[in-house]
Amino acid sequence: MSKSSVIDVFLRVRPTKNPSNLFKLNKDEGTAEFIIPKNPDQGYINNQIEKHTFNFAGVFPTDTTQEEIFDKIAKDVVDSAIEGYNGTIFAYGQTGSGKTYSMTGNPEARSSAGIIPRTLYHIYDYARREQELIIDVTISYLEIYGGSGYDLLVADNRSRNLHDLPKVQAMATANGQTILQGLSLKKAQTEEDALNLLFIGEQNRVIAETPKNDASTRSHCIFIVILECRKPTSDVKTVSKLCLVDLSGSERIGKTGVEGILQREATGINLSLHFLELVIDCLNRQANGENIHIPYRDSLMTLVLKDSLGGNCKTRMIATMSSEPEDLPESICTCRFAGRVANIKNKVTRNEAVDPFIIIEKLKRENQQLKAELAMIKGQSIKDHLESYEIDECKKKVDEFLNSEDPAAVLVVNDYLKMNECFFQLKHMLRNLNKKGQSQPVVQQPQPQAINNTVEVQQLNDEVLRLKQLIIQRDNEIMILLNLIQKGKGSNANQSLVLQGPISEQPEIQQANTSSILQPIEFPKQAEIDRQSQILTEKPAVKKQNFMQGSLDSEPMSQTTKTTTNAQFKELNGMLAEPINITNDQLLDRNSALEMFRKSYRKAQAQEDLKQELQEKMMTSKELGLFINNQRNVISQLKDKIEQSRKEQVLLGLVNSDPNQVSTEEEKLITEYNKQKDIYKQSFDKLKQLKAEVERMSTQLKHSREKMQQDFEKWIDMMLKQRNLSMAATSVLSDFKNLSQKGGEDVNSMVQQFYKNKEICNQLLQK
Ligand code: ADP
Ligand code: MG
Repeated sequence: MSKSSVIDVFLRVRPTKNPSNLFKLNKDEGTAEFIIPKNPDQGYINNQIEKHTFNFAGVFPTDTTQEEIFDKIAKDVVDSAIEGYNGTIFAYGQTGSGKTYSMTGNPEARSSAGIIPRTLYHIYDYARREQELIIDVTISYLEIYGGSGYDLLVADNRSRNLHDLPKVQAMATANGQTILQGLSLKKAQTEEDALNLLFIGEQNRVIAETPKNDASTRSHCIFIVILECRKPTSDVKTVSKLCLVDLSGSERIGKTGVEGILQREATGINLSLHFLELVIDCLNRQANGENIHIPYRDSLMTLVLKDSLGGNCKTRMIATMSSEPEDLPESICTCRFAGRVANIKNKVTRNEAVDPFIIIEKLKRENQQLKAELAMIKGQSIKDHLESYEIDECKKKVDEFLNSEDPAAVLVVNDYLKMNECFFQLKHMLRNLNKKGQSQPVVQQPQPQAINNTVEVQQLNDEVLRLKQLIIQRDNEIMILLNLIQKGKGSNANQSLVLQGPISEQPEIQQANTSSILQPIEFPKQAEIDRQSQILTEKPAVKKQNFMQGSLDSEPMSQTTKTTTNAQFKELNGMLAEPINITNDQLLDRNSALEMFRKSYRKAQAQEDLKQELQEKMMTSKELGLFINNQRNVISQLKDKIEQSRKEQVLLGLVNSDPNQVSTEEEKLITEYNKQKDIYKQSFDKLKQLKAEVERMSTQLKHSREKMQQDFEKWIDMMLKQRNLSMAATSVLSDFKNLSQKGGEDVNSMVQQFYKNKEICNQLLQK
């Protein structure tokens, strides 16, 4: 898709002390008007005045903010660049009219930052907002002086002179494109990186100036931002180039015709602007139907901007001017030039490309998947064993499959080894079921042939398994309770209660033995049951109660008083540096429980140390950041001093004929400047390193906090279970005590009562 677009030209007037009243700006109409009396010296006899009116896409008076300039002129060009359209913004005007102020401004102070730093803020803001878009930013900074290109992004540059900077040369490729050989392309991952590159470029721009070749007036600077944007899932990426150009001073160009070129060349005046004007004239004539060659190749400047002028690019020009009376003639020339630029039409297309690297990655992934599929079909596996987590996954899948209510449920595995593991798990379960079925004749195994539906078989098997587990659990519970009674009654009375095997399998023994201690029957009081239910329903959800062996009491809980063999409990104990003595109330208050847990948590100290170290590093980063900002100011001040010293020399007429020779004072300043630049660079690198460390440590701390929270959840869950079991058991115990105190009734009803009480206890536990 391509569309024709005229270059939009805007006019910005800089604030001055004595603005001329012969100049007027009409913001609503976008016009600038000059009223110039005809020069009587040239023989005109009348005093007729001449009016010059120029139209613009927008005009900006002296009080326009930098923000407004960016929003109205640059923002949509930058947005288009993110969408894949090339963009160029260039500032044109006489020296001192505000080109550099508009393009660069003062990047250190946000309010006076110009288009270049604002472009960078905008791109990174966009990237932060649109997480769905990956934006890679690459930056180059080129200076063109006297027809030659220089790379401004050399970090360790000790250059005194523009010519010490690495040279950049334009090379034409076979398909007619231009490559700039020797120009650094620096990736800028963060906004800070990008701004730092701008800063380095700006400093090199200053240092390379000499009073003789006052580069800021006669050189062009092009800040190039290359954007590669793509969606994470897409093969297609857009690549676009944004050129932000601060042209050299336009003075005299407008006044002299083409004939004056050679003369200007001889006097060392920059020719590039002339070629730019020539190219623009040719493009205009082409737009009017003339078949004309466009002399892009005549200068490096026009070669670099080839795409921006009459090419595939959204281009904007800011004409800058001053309305001081003596500047008006130059300002009229600027407006005339602007009018010619506005006639140029560009064909703008989106630069979409299929990224071969992304395609290769995608194909590699597909290839791997297909290989795995093929291996599975062939019965091979690309691995020879499964990891333990994969075995667990298989178990989970088999469980889900067996427990699924859906008759159409399928067991999906994508790997031969995993499929084998699932079969193995199924076989294992079936064997276990069969074994248990044989040793327990009481449970009637359904005849497989009698049940056709596999789901039903599975449900029955599950039920059998559940019941068996329940029996074991109950046996164990009874065992505890009997032990408790044994404790309460003294050792002699209980010798007869030692059981030989699972109680459920020995009904006679149970009845015979219990008869010696169990006394009259009394049902638990309703109030007591209600109280227990209430306690248990108030607590955080307790899942199906895990049986825990050990002595149980209703005293405040102490980690040490519980002698549990439960593996999980041991593991939980392992994470504590010392036992936690916690009361029931503290346990029920999550905050105080967490606080106590944290105090005893083994890894808490390491966590605390990490936090401490992180805080120190953050503090150092902050200080270093402040230092770097200060350092920037120091460098800027030195830059001003160097400029000042040069101006003074010029005024005093002390300029040496050799441009490489500098005064002693300037020499000192430059040495100091380079020293401070080194310090800045070292500090910046250190800050980057520190920031990476802070990020790594923050992640580590976050993980360690999450782990502690998980451990705490496990611990409190266990403690609450233990507490509830203890309370429930105490209640059953007191029932027993009551029974045994009341004395001699029918054994069967006593056992019945025991089971009833125990059932109540169980129900409470399972809530
Ligand atoms: P140029 O690059 O066109 O030679 P500069 O941008 O260096 O001119 O501007 C010359 C001086 O005028 C600088 O000190 C700059 O800060 C100041 N200046 C230019 N335009 C503005 C503006 N719109 N508002 C405030 N100061 C300005
Ligand atoms: Mg300038």
